[in-house]
Amino acid sequence: MGQGRLAENVRRAPSAQVAGVRQAPVLGRCEPVIPLLSLRAGQDGEGLTRYTARSIFRVSIMTEQRIGLVSLGCPKALVDSEQILSRLRAEGYAISPTYQEADLVIVNTCGFIDGAVEESLEAIGEALAENGKVIVTGCLGAKEDQIREIHPTALEITGPHAADEVLQHVHAHLPPAHDPFVSLVPPQGIRLTPPHYAYLKISEGCNHQCSFCIIPSLRGPLVSRPLGEVLQEAENLAAAGVRELLVISQDTGAYGQDIKYRTGFHGGRPVKTRLKALCMALGALGIWVRLHYVYPYLSIDDILPLMADGLILPYLDVPFQHASPRILKAMKRPASAENNLERIRAWRAVCPDLTLRSTFITGFPGATEAEFEELLEFIEEAQLDRVGCFAYSPVDGSAANALAAAVPDGIREERRRRLMDVQEDISAELLAAKIGREITVLVDEVDEEGTIARSSADAPEIDGLVFINDCFDAEPGDFLQVRVLDADEHDLYAEVLPEP
Ligand code: SF4
Repeated sequence: MGQGRLAENVRRAPSAQVAGVRQAPVLGRCEPVIPLLSLRAGQDGEGLTRYTARSIFRVSIMTEQRIGLVSLGCPKALVDSEQILSRLRAEGYAISPTYQEADLVIVNTCGFIDGAVEESLEAIGEALAENGKVIVTGCLGAKEDQIREIHPTALEITGPHAADEVLQHVHAHLPPAHDPFVSLVPPQGIRLTPPHYAYLKISEGCNHQCSFCIIPSLRGPLVSRPLGEVLQEAENLAAAGVRELLVISQDTGAYGQDIKYRTGFHGGRPVKTRLKALCMALGALGIWVRLHYVYPYLSIDDILPLMADGLILPYLDVPFQHASPRILKAMKRPASAENNLERIRAWRAVCPDLTLRSTFITGFPGATEAEFEELLEFIEEAQLDRVGCFAYSPVDGSAANALAAAVPDGIREERRRRLMDVQEDISAELLAAKIGREITVLVDEVDEEGTIARSSADAPEIDGLVFINDCFDAEPGDFLQVRVLDADEHDLYAEVLPEP
C-alpha cells in the first residue's frame, strides 16, 4: 500500500469496529472461509473506508507445509495478501486456520496511523508467541528497524507489494514439499548443466558502474538472494547428485551488502547473509565449491583460510581487467585502488595451493603502449594460473566509448595476442611444476580414449582438463585420485592411483 496514495483517500482513519465477513479467494480445493478473527474498518470524514481485515483462512490440503496469514490494513493490502496466498497455494502450500497448525505465519501489516502501527506490532507479537516462525510484510515492514526493535526474532521483514520477496522468504524458511507423484519439476529444478555440476546464483545485478559494462543498466542494482533459499537450493542440488557448485553473481564478494548482511535462517539456525558464512555452510555439504567473479576486496582475505582448510576449493576467479592504476580508474573498477600484487602475495601466503583465474581487456580507450607494458609486467609478476583476454569491444551504451580516442582495432588485437603469448609460457611452467603430484579430480566424461576430468584448478568450460588415458571404469561425477604424468600449456595428463 503506498502511504502517499492512501493519504489522498483517507485523511484520518479512527479505529471503528464493524462487523464484516469476506469471501475467501477460491484456491484449488478451498472450503468456504471461516474468518477466525475480526474484520475491522475505519471511516474518515469523507466516507472513505480503510479496512483492517484480520482473517485466517481454512482450506483442505494435500501437502504438509502450512502457512497462516494475518492480513491487516486497507483493501490494497488485502489484495497483496490474496496474491501471496494464491501463489503459495499454487505452489502446493496449504493455508492453516490456526497458529498451532501453521508451520509459518505471514503478517501483512499496516503502518498508516499510530493505531495501525500498534495493532500491527501486536499482531506480530501474537504470531511470534503462538507460532514462532513469522515473516512480516506490508506497509509497516518498510520500517524494519522499528519492528526489529520490538520483535528481533521475526524471520524476515519486507515492505508493501513485495509478493516476490515474501515467496522467496517462505521458500527459504519452509521449502515447498516435493511430491514425486504430482510435481512436474524435480526439487533441484531443471538444469542445463551435466548432472554432476551446477551453477549457484547468489545475487542478481551490480552496484558498480564499470565504464565498459552495461550490466547494471540491464539488470539493475545488486539484489542478494535470501541466504536460506540459496542454501536450500544447494542442499537440493547436492542431494540430487551434484558434486561441484559454481558460485556465481556479478559481484560475489558483495553478497549481502544490499541487505546490510542481515541474518537469514537455514535449518532453523541463524546465518549471516555474507560470503564467508555462505562459504562455510556450502563447505559443510562435502562437495566442491568454487567461487567466481570475486573482486579483490579486503573482505575476501577472510575466505582464504576456508580454502586453506579444504572447506571450499582453493580457487578464485578475480577479473582484474587491467593493472595500470590510471586505466583501472578510467574503467571504474571495484577495488581499483588496491595493490593487487600485494593482495595476491598475501592470499598465497595463507593458501599456497590457491589457483587464480583472471580476465583482462586490451586496447581500452586511451590505453597507451606504456600502460599495456605495465599490464604485461603485472602478468609476469602475478603468475596467474588461468587468464582470459579480450580486445576491447565498444558495447552500445557503455560510458567508456566516450572516454578517449579509441585504440585502433589492430592494436587492441595485437596486444591481446602478446598478452596471451606471455601467459601461455607462464601457464606451461606452472602446469609442468605439477608433474609427479597426486591430486583429486572430478570426472566429466568417459570416451573411447579414456577419462576426461578436472582438478580443483579447473572450472568447467573455461579452464583446462585432466586426461586419464585408458581409464574406462569411471563415471561422470566420480572423484579419482591421480598422479600427474605430463602437462602442456592448458591441460594435465595423469594416471589413476591404485586404491589404498
Ligand atoms: S563489470 Fe563492473 S559494472 Fe559490470 S557487472 Fe562487473 S562489476 Fe558490475
